[in-house]
Parts: sequence; C-alpha cells; structure tokens
Amino acid sequence: MVDPLLSKLASRRAQGLYRQRQTLSSPQGVFVSVDGEKLLSFCSNDYLGLASDARIVNALCKAAEVHGVGAGASHLITGHSAEHAALEEELAEFVGAPRALVFSTGYMANLGVVTALADRQSVVLEDKLNHASLIDAARLARVQVKRYPHVNTTRLAALLADVEGPKLITSDAVFSMDGDIAPLAELLVLAKKHGARLLLDDAHGIGVLGHEGRGTLAQQGIAIEDPVVLMGTLGKAFGVFGAFVAGSEALIETLIQHARTYIYTTALPPAIAAATRASLQIVRTESWRRERLQARIDEFIGGAKALGLPLNDSATAIQPVVLGDATDTLVVSQRLRAQGILVPAIRPPTVPAKTARLRITFSAAHEAAHVQRLLEALAQALR
Ligand SMILES: *Cc1c(COP(=O)(O)O)cnc(C)c1O
Repeated sequence: MVDPLLSKLASRRAQGLYRQRQTLSSPQGVFVSVDGEKLLSFCSNDYLGLASDARIVNALCKAAEVHGVGAGASHLITGHSAEHAALEEELAEFVGAPRALVFSTGYMANLGVVTALADRQSVVLEDKLNHASLIDAARLARVQVKRYPHVNTTRLAALLADVEGPKLITSDAVFSMDGDIAPLAELLVLAKKHGARLLLDDAHGIGVLGHEGRGTLAQQGIAIEDPVVLMGTLGKAFGVFGAFVAGSEALIETLIQHARTYIYTTALPPAIAAATRASLQIVRTESWRRERLQARIDEFIGGAKALGLPLNDSATAIQPVVLGDATDTLVVSQRLRAQGILVPAIRPPTVPAKTARLRITFSAAHEAAHVQRLLEALAQALR
C-alpha cells in the first residue's frame, strides 16, 4: 500500500510544481546566505531595505526589555498594550483615516474584514488575480463570490448591475504576482454607484508609493473614507511584521466586535508594535529609499527592454518575467542560482496555469551594479 500523500507528492513533483524552502542563515538583505552560499537576492518584499535596519532592531530590543516578549492574551482580554494603541493612532494619521486596527498578519486582516462585513446575503466581487488571502476570505465568509477578469471594470460593472443584496468589491491595489496597479478611481466610481464597499489590499504599495510612502491610494488621490477600506501590511516595505486595516470609526468598531481573526488570537508582541513605530518614522522621512528603489526599477526595465525580455506591464518593484511552462521556469531559476543569483520561480497554483514566471523584486538596498549583474545573468539563462 502506497501512502496516498506520497503519490500526490510524486505527481506534484512530476508536474514541476513541487515546492521547497531555502533556509537562510543571514538576515534578509541584498545578499543572503543559503546553505553556506552567499547569493544576490531579488526575492524579498523588503522594498525599502528595512528588515534588518539597526534602528528598528534597537527599538525592538528596548521595547522587549520594557514590555517583555509575548503579549500573553488576545486584544480583547489583556493583550492590547500602549504600543499597539500608539501604533494604531500613528498609522491612522499616516494614511489619513479616522482609525486603524492592527492585525497579526495581512492574511488574517483580509479574512477578518471580509467575514465581518459580509453576511450570507452578500455578494463579494473579486479581481481574478487577487491575493490568496482575499480569495480565502470570501470562501470563509460563505458568501456568493463573483470573480471578474483582471482589472476589467466593464465586466465588474455588469456583474454589479446584476446582483442583489449587500456588495463588497475586493482588489489588490498593486497585484502581488504581476506588479500592475488596479484601476482604483474606476473601482471607486463603481462602488459608489452600486452602493458597494471597496476593500483595497495595499500590501505592496504601502511604504513604497505616494508622498511619504502613504500608499497606492494616496498616490492616486483616493481618500480613505466610506466606501473605501484599506488593508496594509507591515512585513513588506516596513520590514517588520503584522498588518492594519484603516477606515471609519464604525468600520473599526465593527471589526473589534466581529472580526474573528482579530478576536480569537494572541495579540502581536508589543515590542513588534514598537519596532513598527520606529519603522514608520523611517518610512515617512527617508524618501531617498523610494527614490533609490525607483532608480533600480527604471534601470531594470530599460535594460530588460534592450535585451528583449518578456516584461509585464508593471512600473512597480515587482517585475515578473512570464515564461509560461512551470518546468522551464524552474530551470531558468536554477541557472540563475548557479550564477549566484536568487530569483524565485512562481508556479501554479500561486499564478494561473501556463503563466509560470520569474518574480523579480527590487529593494532600495540594491545598487545599480546588482541590477546590471541580474540583467547579464538573465540574458545568459534565457538563451
Ligand atoms: C503578502 C500579502 C498579504 C499577506 O500579508 P502577510 O502579512 O504576509 O500575511 C496579503 N495581501 C497581499 C496582496 C500580499 O502580497
């Protein structure tokens, strides 16, 4: 008798879809140590190069001395500390919303918001390329789900006109595997016209885009007021951990009452909240990090065009090179690795079938020479 788990795993391997972890023995950074090898990395979401910033590390250590390590309880019992409260006020002010609520992860924030806002009569409308956490959120809420083709607001409008009951539109602001930006202004017009709420997941825009890094919504002049709900993560550009939801007073109070992923879990360690406050100051004031990141993106796009690489329509730090076949993509990723460069092969089911890709991400910590090295290695590996 063969264990059915083993035969399933074997079939996944045969399809080129088997996933394996790399074990790092260094902090996140431009160079990472993997199995004793130092590799130039284009894999992280540490867009501003803050994941191992000494000032944030220091804030974490100092706060741990004051507040200890574990929060020891959920927010609604005794886990909510002054550091969480201060972080929430600072985040609300940062994004220009009446209130903000800190969650332990972005995944949990999306599950919490959708399940708290949608009931069984609701319809949730999702972009086909939304992040897994938004997809799972609607499944968990057991609502009727309608998925519209990627950024296709014409189809979304038709779906909205066709459904009854409370409506919630959800979309990544910057799409996590494609790097393109959702048509936020059009989504907002449609949400208002059809009385729908609009949940925007800015995991990849917050800290990176807009004045002081206030995010994709700020960059596009969209205020966080009804019907807009913002979800931002703190483990990417902020280099720390956790997430927040920003919106109206009534929204935040509703989440505190009903978001099960907020209520039934241990609060984030207060020292993590303190570290995030230190990071927020740096994110806001060190604009040179966003400028440097933009310079690296521009160098890559220019170089990749000159080489005739198949680029996506992305202007952000996420630059996918879509190759299609999963096994081919894995081979190219392994060739890059042999040249000392780490670029992940992203395969189904993370991306749709036949759209396997190299997902290249840039950081403000990259230098121009690193981008050149990547371009040369790509040209060789794709030959
Ligand atoms: C990373 C990500 C999340 C999840 O955030 P975590 O804090 O890592 O759980 C949610 N949405 C999008 C678009 C993401 O890229």
